[in-house]
Amino acid sequence: EAQINTNAVIQPDFKFEDMGIGGLDKEFWLIFRRAFASRIYPQDLVQKLGIRHVKGLVLYGPPGTGKTLMARQIAKMLHAREPKIINGPEILNKYVGQSEENIRALFKDAEAEYKAKGDNSELHIIIFDELDAICKQRGGRNDGTGVGDSVVNQLLAKMDGVEQLNNILVIGMTNRLDMLDEALLRPGRFEVQLEIGLPNKEGRCQILKIHTNTNNILDTDVDLEELAGLCKNFTGAEIVGLINSATSFALNRHIKVGSTVEVAKDASTMRVTKDDFFRALSEVHAAYGVDEDEFA
Ligand code: ATP
Repeated sequence: EAQINTNAVIQPDFKFEDMGIGGLDKEFWLIFRRAFASRIYPQDLVQKLGIRHVKGLVLYGPPGTGKTLMARQIAKMLHAREPKIINGPEILNKYVGQSEENIRALFKDAEAEYKAKGDNSELHIIIFDELDAICKQRGGRNDGTGVGDSVVNQLLAKMDGVEQLNNILVIGMTNRLDMLDEALLRPGRFEVQLEIGLPNKEGRCQILKIHTNTNNILDTDVDLEELAGLCKNFTGAEIVGLINSATSFALNRHIKVGSTVEVAKDASTMRVTKDDFFRALSEVHAAYGVDEDEFA
């Protein structure tokens, strides 16, 4: 009987926040079901059952919410090769045919390995940041870059065309799902689309913990749960900004600026206090004003 060693991927006491990513537990488990399960199950059974691997995943949402972190973590957990990370606009080239060639080049390694090893090939992950930059131009819209339908077609050909590859997972990221050509979102293509939105209070608390748990730097008066309540609408990146700001206030208290910078005697015991965080809150603000009650 086939044994499934899920522990190779996920330990029994696994918590997604232990991966250093906060507030995205539900999202992770959705990705696990859609994109992991078929790849860690015994492959002969997967084939017998006629289960197809998901080859494309779109993570969308505001900037700084952890899309890149999530994409990299997926690659790590699937024991894929070091993922190729490409910025959408980088692929585009004004010379005729060059953008298509750039797309082909991205898939070259995966293709060669698939030819040699078939389904025993390692998984190759390609991450497209700003996917919308290359995928919104189909249908005759031309913004002067000279790039047309053929770039998207080239990408689709690699994902579900005649040259089908089973050993790839393409993760696209965008701030605007509505900018993507709908043809991209069909089964066999970027068939799973997942919103990585603003974290709720619990998520923000996890993110605060993740980014302050080193070096024992917090004063005992800092209550991260209270703080999480105060940084409503903050993205993960903005929470990191808040912590950096608070830390700068603390550091500033510990140096005297004269003709030279003097390090205070108690510098090694420096702590970031509640007051530092309150000052930081007047310096760092949320860029997106979504009403939290919708998803609290
Ligand atoms: P963009 O759309 O700008 O590419 P993104 O959603 O990919 O943004 P990341 O690059 O993953 O955002 O996040 C930026 C930084 O913010 C991360 O390196 C991390 O320090 C912090 N961060 C963002 N979201 C989270 C999160 N959910 N948990 C922990 N840290 C986070």
